[in-house]
Amino acid sequence: VVAIDGPSGVGKSTAARKLARELGVPYLDTGAMYRAVALAVLDRGADPSSEEAVLAIAGQADVGLHSRDDGSFEVLLDGQPVETRIRAPRVGEAASQVSTYPAVRQRLVALQRTCARRFGGVLEGRDIGTKVFPDTPHKFFVTARAEVRYRRRFEQLRELGKDVTYDEVAREMEARDRRDASRADSPLLQDGTYTEVDTSDAPVDEVVARMVATVRGRRREATMDS
Ligand code: C5P
Repeated sequence: VVAIDGPSGVGKSTAARKLARELGVPYLDTGAMYRAVALAVLDRGADPSSEEAVLAIAGQADVGLHSRDDGSFEVLLDGQPVETRIRAPRVGEAASQVSTYPAVRQRLVALQRTCARRFGGVLEGRDIGTKVFPDTPHKFFVTARAEVRYRRRFEQLRELGKDVTYDEVAREMEARDRRDASRADSPLLQDGTYTEVDTSDAPVDEVVARMVATVRGRRREATMDS
């Protein structure tokens, strides 16, 4: 199991997906699972900041995983694919709210563990190395300078035809990262057990090559030790 954590817009998903392919293990985007719960909440017209409302909906929503041909997992909500809908910025914002509730986290963490124990995998999120698989020796904390992260996300959204300004994107990302790093349950935290990877100035292939070398090096050490 490889843990990849870090704030939004650092290029975690691209790196994690490529790393999984290189290592021949599945890729699991755990943020997509929190987004699916958030979508269920928004679809029912409920308020993501109301813990009671969220728990009532999350208790009934069926968040599942379906294995794709390319080795990644697709998140299903009540058996339906939701990939396009969960990428809307308002769903990301709501995901950050619903993910502060411990009961929501417990259910999704249980599913993440079951899946990765069975198949192994590169898991990408905020708490994989601190809570979900704290004992894995393979942990990367991905970072990038704030202005690089905001610019990347802004350009992605503009390419998708979204009518947003750079300042709006920067404000929303900053607020979301602050919430993710300051919540009581499983905050985003570089606790010193991670190898830090800065993607500000490095092409993704170079970043992935370094990660592959680090994972293989640790596996060799572990084989020699045993
Ligand atoms: O990574 P992504 O932007 O898809 O994640 C959406 C939100 O889900 C994050 O802002 C965070 O609040 C939450 N999340 C989490 N723990 C994870 C993955 C995502 O709390 N392991």
